[in-house]
Amino acid sequence: MPIPPRQIAGKNAEKTKAHNRRVVLGYLQGRDAGRAEIAKASGLSTQTVSNLVAELEAEGLVEALGRRAAARGQPPLVYRFHARGAAVLGFEVRPDTLSMVLTDLGGTALMTHQDRLSDTAPAQVLAQMAQMAAEARALPDCPRILGAGLVIPGPFGVEGLSAAGATTLPDWDAATIPGLAETALGLPVYLDKDATAAALAEGMFGAAQGLSSFAFLYFGSGLGLGVITQGHPLRGAFGNAGELGHVVLHPGGLPCDCGNLGCLEQYVSRLSVQRHLIDAGLLPAGAMGTDATIARLLAEAHPALDAWTNSAAEALSRAIGMLENLFDPQSILLGGALPDGLLDRLIARLSLPPGSVARRTDRSHPRVARGTSGRLTAALGAAALVIHDTVTPRLDAHELE
Ligand SMILES: [Zn+2]
Repeated sequence: MPIPPRQIAGKNAEKTKAHNRRVVLGYLQGRDAGRAEIAKASGLSTQTVSNLVAELEAEGLVEALGRRAAARGQPPLVYRFHARGAAVLGFEVRPDTLSMVLTDLGGTALMTHQDRLSDTAPAQVLAQMAQMAAEARALPDCPRILGAGLVIPGPFGVEGLSAAGATTLPDWDAATIPGLAETALGLPVYLDKDATAAALAEGMFGAAQGLSSFAFLYFGSGLGLGVITQGHPLRGAFGNAGELGHVVLHPGGLPCDCGNLGCLEQYVSRLSVQRHLIDAGLLPAGAMGTDATIARLLAEAHPALDAWTNSAAEALSRAIGMLENLFDPQSILLGGALPDGLLDRLIARLSLPPGSVARRTDRSHPRVARGTSGRLTAALGAAALVIHDTVTPRLDAHELE
């Protein structure tokens, strides 16, 4: 049924305002500025900017800095983005771990929390999340919490892929989880894949700051890929873009839970290195104490870990050449639940294909580097989802015209 024109106008007015708020906040996130400067840069009227700045100031999201000296006339009042004016929550649910981070809008962590999960049933995990949120709210001087990001391993809603294997969360249905989480937390909830969110975090707070197009290889339990292109995450039609772990790199190779043989994550992932060390008798079954063991084996230059690293580096090199030719990124970053020392060793062993669009003489960033957001990168990325939605104008802004 066609929508009556007046309703379209009303809806567009709301969308326009939300869009303009993001434009003003996004501009101030990049630099301090007066209202006339924001108006000139954004193409909005000075009156619109004044109204929005007043509203954002009342909400504590921007603050007046003082007057800037001007050549003539009344010096303009300068405003800045107030990162401490509000907070966001980020949650990462992995098959064995629940991580939480409370950050201000600048990504500074105000509180972090990590629990091992023995039961991944949504009701159980949501109750643990609600408990963590209550602890965050009880923090002295906790700013207003704008929302919560929630990230889980993909893929979403794919028969046979979502519910199989040690790297997935059965019963976590992307269609129903956000609503259940909003009820449990009493906050707006943004759901995304761990790798996409981790890429956003790395772009906002980590090694990809200042880059507009890059890829992030996320080591959760499996291996995920987040792609940011021209400042926006690439999600695909169903939110499943970036299932790099299930790209077949060794046809006829190791069986994967997804049903394929030779998937990349059978060679390059936390589970893969754990399995390799268990088979070599260096780690107890159940893979407890993985990080401490890896640190020791790295320090000893142990041949078993070395063999894994070489095999992983070979598969990863081919995957990276593919990603470069597909997405033309400024850089590719690696991060997540592998110890930094192992990621560094893996990067040092890469043998990147020469036939790649990334072979440029004018590179400003390395082809491959380690991310700097650390172990909580995906939880931080979950928080970044909320911040991104608050400050970044949407790509579909042309629909407003
Ligand atoms: Zn697979």
